[in-house]
Amino acid sequence: MVEQSLMARLPKVDQVLARAELAALAASVPRPLILQAVRLVLEDLRGRLLAGQGVEPEELALAQVAGAAAAQARQLARPSLRRVVNATGVVVHTNLGRSLLAEEACKRLVELNRAYSNLEYDLAAGARGSRYVHVAGILKELTGAEAALVVNNNAAAVFLSLQSLAAGREVIVSRGQLVEIGGSFRIPDVMAKSGAILREVGTTNKTHPRDFENAITSNTGLLLKVHTSNFAVVGFHQEVSLGQMRQIADRYHLPLMEDLGSGSLVDFSPWGLAREPTVQEALAEGADLVTFSGDKLLGGPQAGVILGKAELIERLRANPLNRALRIDKLTLAALEATLELYREPQQALRQIPTLRMLCRPYQELRNQAAALARRLKALKLPRLGVGTREGFSRVGGGAMPLAAPRTRLLEVSVQGLSTTRLEESLRLGDPPIIARLEDGRLLLDVRTLVGDDHEAIVQALARLAGAACPV
Ligand SMILES: *Cc1c(COP(=O)(O)O)cnc(C)c1O
Repeated sequence: MVEQSLMARLPKVDQVLARAELAALAASVPRPLILQAVRLVLEDLRGRLLAGQGVEPEELALAQVAGAAAAQARQLARPSLRRVVNATGVVVHTNLGRSLLAEEACKRLVELNRAYSNLEYDLAAGARGSRYVHVAGILKELTGAEAALVVNNNAAAVFLSLQSLAAGREVIVSRGQLVEIGGSFRIPDVMAKSGAILREVGTTNKTHPRDFENAITSNTGLLLKVHTSNFAVVGFHQEVSLGQMRQIADRYHLPLMEDLGSGSLVDFSPWGLAREPTVQEALAEGADLVTFSGDKLLGGPQAGVILGKAELIERLRANPLNRALRIDKLTLAALEATLELYREPQQALRQIPTLRMLCRPYQELRNQAAALARRLKALKLPRLGVGTREGFSRVGGGAMPLAAPRTRLLEVSVQGLSTTRLEESLRLGDPPIIARLEDGRLLLDVRTLVGDDHEAIVQALARLAGAACPV
């Protein structure tokens, strides 16, 4: 049988290991992974031979096997969590790591994690201190809040607040705000886990102040407003404003909390984005407690920021659960450095990538797309098609779901490759390039490109359109 004779030609592990292709890897890939790669490639060939699947005799050549094993070894050695090129134009892309950190924040993070720090040490007193003081001061300064606390993320912030203030008691929320925020964060579920009792009022599209008032009992613990995030109700629609909720809270002596979700310190409407209440405004309008994410519109690291009345914040801080949800020092370092940039709003807009990307002028995006298109055309690859056109980006992170800032898109095609294959090849490359597929077209939005992303795109397309046989 042909397979029998081919089987005899399958190289031995040691023969493959001795090849230059693998010896060259020894400096960069740990030996156990090289060995594992060789075994995987040989097992695959053996399996295919046994199953009678067509194996070309060339595939058994020593050089060929060693080449395949080297590629496999490099893959095994690659970290799982890797840099990718975000060409989707979704700025706060939760699947791609949300916000990029400002240079200052990256520097601080590295500095403070190479050395010991005063994380929980009061230098003036020479005694144990609190990790929360490092950002509480600047948060109060920037927002006018009485007190501040930070935890692991906003889900934790909401959970800790409900658990501390309303376990066993009723929390009144408008039905139109009982939302699910991607990745399985559902307000009703979080509330149930916290021990608070959900009391929903109003209808999906309309809630009136009297709905809140009618629902208040002696067991009411909190009035809650939730930002509907990734979801927008248009048309016949009415919510009770924070100001109206404040009046009711005052009348019945109840605390009022708002989960802002993205929570921005900046009003983006001058840049053509939606007018959303800022964190400062929510506090000024009377929220006793507001919570928001550190890595959405704030543009910092993953964190949950809680601001508000000192007496309430103290109850949260003292809750034993806080220890389980606590923020780590990497985050604190990056968060403090990010917040410092907000002391000069113009500086924040220039240096915090999330803010910079959201406010980029169209002309700049246009120039950038044109420059990238020129570089691709200069490759003079007949199979590569490149054009630019107008399109729209998205904010992402559940913020401003209806906002669609105008952007410039590169439309790319490679002859002999379908757009779905092209999308996949870019995604599986190194670094992976995440593009947009729209109406059968492959689009790259330049708004979210950073650093040497252009270089990565040029290299990847040169390879795909230059290869004699497309991979
Ligand atoms: C994003 C979001 C959350 C969850 O925040 P994480 O920081 O992802 O934990 C909670 N509530 C609202 C309204 C949100 O938009």
